[in-house]
Amino acid sequence: MARSCSIAVLPGDGIGPEVMAEALKVLDAVEKKFDVTFARTHANVGGAGIDNEGKALPDTTVDICRASDAILFGSVGGPKWEFLPPDEQPERAALLPLRSIFGLYANLRPAIVFSSLTRASSLKEEVVSGGFDILVVRELTGGIYFSQPKGIEGEGRGRVGFDTLRYSVPEIERIAHVAFRAARERSGKLCSIDKANVLSSSVLWRETVTAVGKDYPEVELTHMYVDNAAMQLVRRPKQFDVLLCENMFGDILSDEAAMLTGSMGMLASASLNSSKFGLFEPAGGSAPDIAGKGVANPIAQILSAAMMLKYSLGQEQAAAAIEAAVAAILDKKIMTRDIATPGVKPVSTAAMGDAIVSEILAN
Ligand code: NAD
Repeated sequence: MARSCSIAVLPGDGIGPEVMAEALKVLDAVEKKFDVTFARTHANVGGAGIDNEGKALPDTTVDICRASDAILFGSVGGPKWEFLPPDEQPERAALLPLRSIFGLYANLRPAIVFSSLTRASSLKEEVVSGGFDILVVRELTGGIYFSQPKGIEGEGRGRVGFDTLRYSVPEIERIAHVAFRAARERSGKLCSIDKANVLSSSVLWRETVTAVGKDYPEVELTHMYVDNAAMQLVRRPKQFDVLLCENMFGDILSDEAAMLTGSMGMLASASLNSSKFGLFEPAGGSAPDIAGKGVANPIAQILSAAMMLKYSLGQEQAAAAIEAAVAAILDKKIMTRDIATPGVKPVSTAAMGDAIVSEILAN
């Protein structure tokens, strides 16, 4: 009997529902091809949550997520809700609580330049020729964004603003294990990023990552200061495979790595907890400038679904089939507007989804 997996489908706002529709078509194709079925329950989130149920993360949505094996998330936000107080804004009021309710401490962000898209990269062609594939593993729930104390004290020009950067050994260990496991399944190379020449938290980070590395003798571990890593990413990105970062360094470097790939429409991401449960979403936002026009690139959403199959649902073969189909249709010059190379007539969001589905079914 086919394995049944349950998915909470949260399309959200802007291009979210458009690109989600294409990812769901791809899951239909996976059901036809592999021994698995997906029970999907749709729920409101973000602006859609505010409009339909009075808040960005309705309780019913949380219940649906709790009852599912994974969350497939679109994107949230847009001009309609920008007048709301910051705490009620769709992104802040939906994504942050979801991360904290489900303990999603590990953020995985691949930055892939497909060989047929090297021209879309912001780097010179000779630097990216042949493409590259980097995975940034970012700690998501600790570090300077969350550690206490933090605040602003004093009066007038005497005011002082301060934050604390704190990491415990277990917090470092659990994210290090995620990164080592990912590296083991890829090329076996892991570079841990820190600022151990200045920060005590980084000294402990380096020590702990090195100790965890003893469990993974097949992975080659190196360490790099964050300032050097920022430079090396634009100088010679192909030297990297998996990058392990604490929260703030990962925030900055994953955006840098993402931009090297050329379009927000290509970038998937996963946020995982320790029981393989995860939230999978495109790295970009709801793109209000192109919403409703049928031109959004659905690949980020489709590759997010592939990450869900791989990391939460144990369907590695199906995930690989989706990734291969994406690479193949790009080689055939089927491209949406954001990635179309000169001379290529862009296809619509739906046509891109259809092409990926046909490719999966044909192989
Ligand atoms: P954005 O990522 O939505 O858009 C930036 C640029 O990238 C735009 O030009 C857009 O057209 C383009 N783009 C993004 N995704 C694309 C796709 N799939 N195909 C083609 N082009 C694509 O960022 P923004 O404009 O700063 O934010 C818009 C809204 O999204 C805001 O309300 C913001 O709060 C929200 N946002 C949500 C998330 C999330 O849901 N996780 C993340 C970032 C921003």
